[in-house]
Amino acid sequence: KSLSERDKAVIWHPYTQMQTAPAPIGIVRGEGALLFDENGNSYLDATSSWWVNIHGHAHPYITEKIAEQAAKLHHVIFAGYTHEPAVELAEKLLPVLPGSQQKLFYSDNGSTAVEVALKMTIQYWQNKGQVKTRILAFRNAYHGDTFGAMSVSARSVFTRAFDEYLFDVTFLDVPAPDNLEALKAAIDTHASDTAAFIFEPLVQGSGGMVMYDTACFDALLQHCRAHGILLIADEVMTGFGRTGTNFAMEQVQTPPDMITLSKGLTGGTIAMGVTTCTNEIYHAFLSTDKLKTLFHGHSYTANPLTCAIALASLELFLQPACRQERERINARHRAFAVELAYHPDVKNVRSLGTILAFEIVTGEADSYTNDLAGFLFKFFREKRVMLRPLGNTLYILPPYCITDEQLTEVYDSIYEMLAKYQE
Ligand code: PMP
Repeated sequence: KSLSERDKAVIWHPYTQMQTAPAPIGIVRGEGALLFDENGNSYLDATSSWWVNIHGHAHPYITEKIAEQAAKLHHVIFAGYTHEPAVELAEKLLPVLPGSQQKLFYSDNGSTAVEVALKMTIQYWQNKGQVKTRILAFRNAYHGDTFGAMSVSARSVFTRAFDEYLFDVTFLDVPAPDNLEALKAAIDTHASDTAAFIFEPLVQGSGGMVMYDTACFDALLQHCRAHGILLIADEVMTGFGRTGTNFAMEQVQTPPDMITLSKGLTGGTIAMGVTTCTNEIYHAFLSTDKLKTLFHGHSYTANPLTCAIALASLELFLQPACRQERERINARHRAFAVELAYHPDVKNVRSLGTILAFEIVTGEADSYTNDLAGFLFKFFREKRVMLRPLGNTLYILPPYCITDEQLTEVYDSIYEMLAKYQE
């Protein structure tokens, strides 16, 4: 039996229970921007496998570091014990983050990094003896699949079955010149009991690669900060070079109080999340009163293998060569965006850093399961180019090692799709 057939008998995949969903493709190997199936076919990973493989697949340096750490220590409980990879990673990562990030808390993925940030901000105010319970978030946001993360995310097909179990959040539209003053006024109304504002900086990923006006976004953050509202920058998608700078928050003046990271953190190897914060936040938890402790910890918190991988990935990421690759992709994306904007079936072509996104004119923006999405999924699967639609939005978010020839192949496949999608 093939891997796909054996899989179908025993595995429940994300989002693919629909009877019409095709069997998953069995992948046996990865190299650079390519993945190979059990029959030797190659697939061009144009979305870095859910935006994680920033250095491509099976990078030799990361493989070497995995082996090195595996020979020493696989795991140790992180309450009361520590180890070199966890400390070194925090020492190297905190100074390159925007704002004054001075403490780092380890968790398991993007959703748990968000949970930790929410729990920290809520308890921060309690520890300081102040009643601040309201959380602000953007209306179209996506911050993860766990209950806290779903609560601060858009109410959508993803949350529908659970909406009544989610906590109340005050949602704001993304900022633009024509709504900025209204947004500021809404914040003024709620300022006295607002604990924190959580947001995806510069661009909403799962919400359809929605890019905001940077100046308006910064003004909104500045307004929150003036009211003492804690700012949580969810850089799970934007972090590690996606938006043109190392971290998206480098492009605004207002510093975040906390940052959540995952995805590119381990370069597409083993899942891990981190939540970073200022000493101001951390110090509110330091006390002889045990009840001021943050009661949160995962069995695999700061797993040494994962930390060693993140460290190797960070080293690669901070090399000038990696920045040059990102600049190369950005230049190619921008040139393609100019060309693509002339296509009659395309609208809202946008690019930022290594992200390129556009909408197909006839598609429904808000439906995950519309016919167009089904067609796009099937078309690119057959072309062996890994591109997935978000509603009627298609985006490219490649690993930084993608070659110029491979980028051309992705762009060409988009033109080919546009010639066929109405047939
Ligand atoms: N925050 C953002 C901005 C994300 O894009 C995602 C995942 N798409 C998450 C949080 C959740 O991360 P994970 O899937 O690792 O739980």
